[in-house]
This record gives sequence, C-alpha cells and structure tokens, in this order.
Amino acid sequence: MSVTETLAPRPVGGPTLPQERRLVTELPGPRSREVLDRKARAVAAGVGHTVPIAAVAAGGGVVVDADGNSLIDLGSGIAVTTAGNANPRVVTAVTEQVARFTHTCFMIAPYESYIAVAEALNRLTPGDHDKRTALFNSGAEAVENAVKIARKHTGRQAVIAFDHAYHGRTNLTMALTAKNMPYKHGFGPFAGEVYRAPMSYPFHDGLTGPESAARAITLIEKQVGAENVAAVIIEPIQGEGGFIVPADGFLNTLVDWCRDNGAVFIADEVQTGFARTGRWFASEHFGIVPDLVVTAKGIADGLPLSGVTGRAEIMDSPHAGGLGGTYGGNPLACVAALAAIESYEADGLLERASEIGAQLTGRLTALQARDPRVGDVRGHGAMIAAEFVDPATGAPDGSLTARVAKACIAAGVIVLTCGTHGNVIRFLPPLTITDDLLAEGLDVLETALVGA
Ligand code: PMP
Repeated sequence: MSVTETLAPRPVGGPTLPQERRLVTELPGPRSREVLDRKARAVAAGVGHTVPIAAVAAGGGVVVDADGNSLIDLGSGIAVTTAGNANPRVVTAVTEQVARFTHTCFMIAPYESYIAVAEALNRLTPGDHDKRTALFNSGAEAVENAVKIARKHTGRQAVIAFDHAYHGRTNLTMALTAKNMPYKHGFGPFAGEVYRAPMSYPFHDGLTGPESAARAITLIEKQVGAENVAAVIIEPIQGEGGFIVPADGFLNTLVDWCRDNGAVFIADEVQTGFARTGRWFASEHFGIVPDLVVTAKGIADGLPLSGVTGRAEIMDSPHAGGLGGTYGGNPLACVAALAAIESYEADGLLERASEIGAQLTGRLTALQARDPRVGDVRGHGAMIAAEFVDPATGAPDGSLTARVAKACIAAGVIVLTCGTHGNVIRFLPPLTITDDLLAEGLDVLETALVGA
C-alpha cells in the first residue's frame, strides 16, 4: 500500500488551510493510530514523538492530521517553520529548483544559490566585519564545524559549554549538551576537552550578569586555563535547557573575555535565529557581536540546512577540503532559505514576532498573577516560556508541566516542554499564526492548567 493510499484524502498545506482548531476524533484518531502502529513496528524506539497524530498538511498556524483533526501549532516543529509551514514563496522556489537539479555536490560543481545564502548570512548576522559562511545540514553538524574552525584558528583544544546547554546529539555535541536523560544516557564515551561552566539563570540564581560571568570565568581560568581555550559556545537564549535568558551583561562580559584571551566566541543561534525573537538573531538583544554564529532551523523554513558564519580570518583558517560534506548546502535547501529570508524581510515577520511576543507575555504574566505555580515568564518575541514550580518550595514541577502539556495536546494545541527539570512550557508559534488562533491556544492552556 502506498503512503498516498494510506493517508488519503490529503489537504494541500500552506496558509490557505482553514485556520481553526477542529477535533473530529480523539487523538490519535483511527487513521493516525494505524500509521503510529506501523511506526512502532518499523521505526527505532529511540525516535520518540510528542503529538499522537500522523501529520498530512500544515500552514498558517495549524497542523492537520490523517483523520482531519486540525491542531493549533505553538511549536513550529521545534522553531523551524518560522515563516509558516509550506510558505508559498518556499513552495514555489523549491518546486522550480527540484525540476532543475536536485544535487551536484557544492564541493564538486558549485551553484549560485549556496553563494547567495552565504552572502545573506554574512549580511544579516551581527557585526559589519568581513565574514565568510559554510553550509551544512543540521544544527549539530554546524556546531561541530564551528568547533573545528575555532580549534584550527586558535591551535587550542578546550571548549567551554554551559549548564543547561543543548547543542545536538552527535558525539561532540552530546559532550557539549548538558542534560543526561534522554540525550546522553548510555551513549558515551563523549568527546574530550569539553568543560562546563555555570550559566546565568536569573530566576534561580538571583545574580547580576557580571556576577555570573565572573563565576564562569573563574572556573574557566582555574580549571581549564585561559591559554587553552579554543572556544566558548553558548546559546544567547538557551532553548532546550528552558528558554533561559541570561542576565544583562553576562554575554557581553564573556565576549570581552574571549577577545582579551584569544578565544573564539561562538553563538549557537540554531533555535533563536531568523526572526524568532523579533530580531534576526538573539545576540542583538544583548548588543553582542559573536566571532562565529551557528544557524539552522528557521533558516530554510523546514528544509534541512545549517550554517556557520563569522569573521573571515577565523572562517578561512581551515585548509581547502577541511570543511564540507556531500549534502551541505543542498540546492533545494538553499533556494528554500533564500525564499524564507525574502519572506522574513518582505512580510514584516520580525515585527510580527514582537507582536506575538507581546501577546504571549501579556497572557502568561496575567496567568502568573493568578496562579503561583507559574513561577516565571520569560523570553523574547515568539520564543516565550513559562516555568512551573511548586509554590510552597519553589522546586521545579516537571510532573505538573507534563500534565498541562498533555492536556493541551489532547485538546488540539501543540505545545512543547523543555528545561533541565522538564518544568518549562515553551511557545514557538509560526509567525504566520493569527491573533485569534494564538489566543485560543492560550485559552486551552489556561483551562489545562486549572484542571492539572
Ligand atoms: N543547537 C541548538 C540551540 C538547538 O536548539 C538544536 C536543536 N534543538 C541544535 C543545536 C541541534 O540541531 P539539529 O537538531 O538540527 O542537529
């Protein structure tokens, strides 16, 4: 039986899909259940899923399943379809490209779209210095390459990552990622010369930015040695770790320290990049200019693409052939990225992210004022989170968070959790969601919290 037969009828995705929450079965419905039963028999158990549906179409602010249920999308496939699922500009660009050529390997026969993406990244990332870019497939692969480049440039080995960090699931990025379960458990040994420093987490540590930076720098200097540090890598706002926004001055102090000590400052903007926070890159909220910026997710609105962009003298340190890969900067992904960037610019999506942020923050802080289990509301633009705690002790309440998220999903609203203690619900809606749909999603969240 072909996939088309199994899942028919399939609506066309994109913004013309009816923008509504519509449940016609419980989740999963019978058709989705059939597909998920096949998943259990065919797909490795380690590849989990959060929402019990088989998706067949998505666009605007909804995801539609095989039974005709339409769910409000507050996750964007983990911050990827920022410019909207099946965005018409992306669809046109990819459709035209796929009929022209699907692959030549950029390292064998280069093509213009890759170069145009590099030019766009050089233009859009913070700082007006001379820049170069290299493209890859996934966020983790780009992080690995940023570390390779920093090591080659400095001739040093040590890499500093932070508490609550998430940088991926490959061997080096598992070492950089902080949380054991589920990302690292049983998968060691991990790559060497990775050291972990304390993060600035204002809701929990109450420290100023410079105080927490001093704490991290002392650890680096005493336990690693400044002259051994190739790179400091950090998410300007941590994603999987709990949407942790560092206190003002934390990142700036680390950037200054890197400059003074010859280390490369790498901003992992895989989750925060591309209009998500209301700016092109979250680094801009803190006024920092990273040496290298790692991008993925929102860069190509769903096609697999990632990049490392940074100072020309650092990026050009590896020898020819030292960077690359068969698929890196695939032509379909590159034209998708160019179309997505056009959409961010022409459709006013940065401003839209800020509006969404104001709506989310307004509703969640009002909820926090009524319900002390909402300990903290934080984030920028369309990257906002609520952290749930036990009001008596302030301890993280992961089980409440899981119950609320489960109830939201059962009611047709896709929300994602995050945080080292699993006690954070994060909101990452596509920037094409309507105000009404976002408000309805938050109504569902409020009801779920009352019942949890
Ligand atoms: N860095 C950050 C900050 C991320 O959020 C992620 C993905 N959640 C990654 C790296 C890894 O990206 P990928 O899953 O594309 O390898």
